[in-house]
Amino acid sequence: MAVQRTFSILKPDATERNLTGAINALIEKAGLRIVAQKRIRMTREQAETFYAVHKERPFFGELVDFMISGPVVVQVLEGENAVLNYRDVMGATDPSKAADGTIRKLHAKSIGENSVHGSDAPETAAIEIAQFFSGNEIVG
Ligand code: GDP
Repeated sequence: MAVQRTFSILKPDATERNLTGAINALIEKAGLRIVAQKRIRMTREQAETFYAVHKERPFFGELVDFMISGPVVVQVLEGENAVLNYRDVMGATDPSKAADGTIRKLHAKSIGENSVHGSDAPETAAIEIAQFFSGNEIVG
């Protein structure tokens, strides 16, 4: 399996509770390298574009409002099988269904305020990374 990159967001519920370091420790313990990282406030337009795939879902408005409610940390993670590895580290979308030791089991507040985002496929990762980082901001 080749080295791969995935896109990650530490969501507003995580930054609000000062969990950036705690979550980064779980990421690094799983063998993923944080090769780019910045703390930003998403604009409504950025959040709507990012989650456009969900725009017909009943929770879309709530999701966008949440993502712009406070700072987020956007990241590029690199490692073997990074996309699936990070999905495993994150745990299930609904924290009540997440496995022990996962970020969402340990830290998520609810199915909406669930602390982290991770890309679902390498193709999506490339699109999501390009939305927030230019090539020279990623240092592998
Ligand atoms: P993920 O890939 O595990 O993040 O899950 P999805 O792609 O299915 O959903 C994207 C994000 O939408 C989730 O991480 C949640 O923040 C939010 N979300 C998903 N389902 C619900 C829901 O039923 N209610 C609310 N409020 N938010 C949801």
